[in-house]
Amino acid sequence: MERRTAIVTGGNRGLGFEICRQLAGQGIQTILTARNPHQGREAAERLQGEGLDVLFHPLDITDSQQIQELMAHLSSRLGRLDILINNAGIYLDRHRPALSIAPDLIARAIQTDVCSTFALCQAAIPIMRTHQYGRIVNLSSRTSRMEQMNNAGLTYKISKAALNVITVVLSREVATENILINAVNPGWVKTDMGGKDATRSPKEGAEGPVWLATLPDGGPTGCFFNGRDRQSW
Ligand code: NAP
Repeated sequence: MERRTAIVTGGNRGLGFEICRQLAGQGIQTILTARNPHQGREAAERLQGEGLDVLFHPLDITDSQQIQELMAHLSSRLGRLDILINNAGIYLDRHRPALSIAPDLIARAIQTDVCSTFALCQAAIPIMRTHQYGRIVNLSSRTSRMEQMNNAGLTYKISKAALNVITVVLSREVATENILINAVNPGWVKTDMGGKDATRSPKEGAEGPVWLATLPDGGPTGCFFNGRDRQSW
């Protein structure tokens, strides 16, 4: 089996950084991407310092030209892409009540969490198709589930729920091509987004996404996981 190659978005800190560490720890060639080149390079160098094969590539996921450049780079230099972890995300309205937010905040959240993530899937799948192997993991959230709705964090709920829809629809489009696409809630994780009171470490939070990124052929697709546990949408 040829060595697998993975792209992780938002790899400079938080869950993305730890996901890079765990993927590379399994011998997967890992491309840590970040929108801030200085922070991204520094993060990759930290992991290289741990003896891990992690390369840096700049990527603001909202920049379609950068997405095309990254995929062209992968195709020409490495010749393959096996794993895409759509980790980068924003939480614009935090715990603010729904009626207090400006409507265009919803559009901003959707631009990053939904449109850009979809654009990345659209760019990655043709490369995965060439070798009939792909694993796409979309970082979703517990709060995207209809039974978890309350009155706060409307933009986040909308964008993660839309990401769930993309997960299901795309998984069906590639169902016969050994490309498995799943959404995962990493749990409440101690990161800048999760805050210091969160109950899980980045190491624990990364385990579900990394497990989904390394599913065997014939594994689940178009599903929502809480860590490793499959849940209803
Ligand atoms: P975080 O600490 O806030 O990190 C977010 C990452 O996304 C950063 O690397 C950030 O880059 C990057 N990012 C944001 N917009 C970007 C863009 N346009 N292009 C490229 N990168 C961009 O968040 P986290 O806690 O690690 O969360 C990672 C994922 O897990 C998110 O999708 C989040 O919604 C999800 N999640 C987290 C929790 C939790 O409890 N932490 C729970 C459920 C789901 P910069 O450093 O440049 O801002």
